Amino acid sequence: MSGAPPVLVWFRRDLRLTDNPALAAAARQGRPIICLFVLDPETEAMGAAARWRLGQGLAVLAAQLQARGQCLILRRGDALTVLRAVLAETGATGLHWGRLYTPAEMARDRQIKAALRAEGVAVESHAGALLAEPWQVQTGAGGPYRVYTPFWRAIMAREVAAPLAAPAALPAPPNLPQSDSLAAWCLEAGVARGGDVLARHASVGEQAAADRLADFLRDGLARYDAARDFPAQDGTSGLSAYLALGEIGVRQVWHRVLRALHEGAPGAEPFLRQLVWREFAAHLMYHFPDLDRRAWRPDWDGFPWRGDNDDAEAWRRGETGEPLVDAAMRELYATGHMHNRARMVVASYLTKHLLTDWRVGLAWFADCLVDWDAASNAMGWQWVAGCGPDAAPYFRIFNPATQAAKFDPEGLYRRFWLEPGQPGAEAFHAAAPRSWQTGARAPRPQPVVGLAEGRARALAALERFKRG
Ligand code: FAD
Repeated sequence: MSGAPPVLVWFRRDLRLTDNPALAAAARQGRPIICLFVLDPETEAMGAAARWRLGQGLAVLAAQLQARGQCLILRRGDALTVLRAVLAETGATGLHWGRLYTPAEMARDRQIKAALRAEGVAVESHAGALLAEPWQVQTGAGGPYRVYTPFWRAIMAREVAAPLAAPAALPAPPNLPQSDSLAAWCLEAGVARGGDVLARHASVGEQAAADRLADFLRDGLARYDAARDFPAQDGTSGLSAYLALGEIGVRQVWHRVLRALHEGAPGAEPFLRQLVWREFAAHLMYHFPDLDRRAWRPDWDGFPWRGDNDDAEAWRRGETGEPLVDAAMRELYATGHMHNRARMVVASYLTKHLLTDWRVGLAWFADCLVDWDAASNAMGWQWVAGCGPDAAPYFRIFNPATQAAKFDPEGLYRRFWLEPGQPGAEAFHAAAPRSWQTGARAPRPQPVVGLAEGRARALAALERFKRG
């Protein structure tokens, strides 16, 4: 190996050593490896909570690499410019990265691949963030899937590549290039409530992800189907933030749960079905790149949504006067998480009872979620709003009170977040900006709209829209 030029591994949203095909490919070359992360404009554009979570993930990855005699080099700037500079500084002749599938990332990567290959760099991109490449899964007629159930069947019928082991050796070159300091990037700066508020609810990194999966397989999978819709229960895997940053690979999760399915474990199939929604979202965004900007059903771009408005601000602050909605919005603000059932309820309430554009909600989620995933967020919002693929029809309006009675029957979740003195309510009051005036002593607000009135208003808007 001595004297062999190094090879670069560009980490992006694959902050792990196991089942990391880019890292594995670099290690197979038997040359010194330079591990790099670039804070480029696409990455800088992430929402505040997701940027904070990224910073946490990078710190853990850097420590992991250091324990293996390696180093994570951090650079900020336009990715192509940074990569050129690091290649020139180190004499590296090869570059590996794991593929990402949002339109902006794909456009960036295509440009970089073409430019660097033209300059003689051996650039390889690798699949690993999804169960299948979005272009490989096609309907019988040859196009993309638009409906979930056949997509699910198509994924189940495929052979998903087995996860790769972490490389045995990650040799570093004798001289490493200069690195920025992670602290100087101030990735927590956008989180008005402070990163330490979110940190109370986050565990970070590859080991934490593996532990969480093991715990879930042991204690959670069997009751997943029964428990997953109840926000007061710890009934889901809690893997989404790890998956969003690639601290665990989806193929690792898939194969562990598939094995459980073959062994007859209850809960395994419902869980895999949920996991494949993530895949479906990526598939949709790949084929319909405007998924986070325009209604997937083009005629819905003309729906008379309200733009941002005072009711939407009450929604953001957990001040709509609708207990389940407010509890969920408080959970989001104080923890960076929100239960899936609650996401559906608050999204329906915003887009239907408050007649507000789904993009207003999408933007707030993007700013607040630590598990933010561009495709899942866009698909989730469009699905609930009724303008997305395979979506719940607009006239199907979640009633938050009925949802609360069904999925929070004892009121545990609502009390935890709303009742003065309860840990959730206290955490929210401590985190919320003073200007929101949501202190423990503030009276609970009156509903911004009655449930029957909001429903009737939404249905009337739909009627007018269909007629006109
Ligand atoms: P589990 O129930 O344990 O599911 C396991 C995994 O399957 C999840 O980690 C996730 O990767 C995937 N998954 C489950 N449900 C969905 C779904 N409906 N859509 C896509 N993937 C799914 N998920 C995100 O990861 N990032 C987002 O930005 C995001 N935004 C959403 C916005 C809205 C309006 C809605 C309705 C849903 C959104 N979801 C998003 C999906 C879902 O709410 C979360 O994935 C889930 O709550 C994460 O918790 P968990 O890991 O415990 O899920």
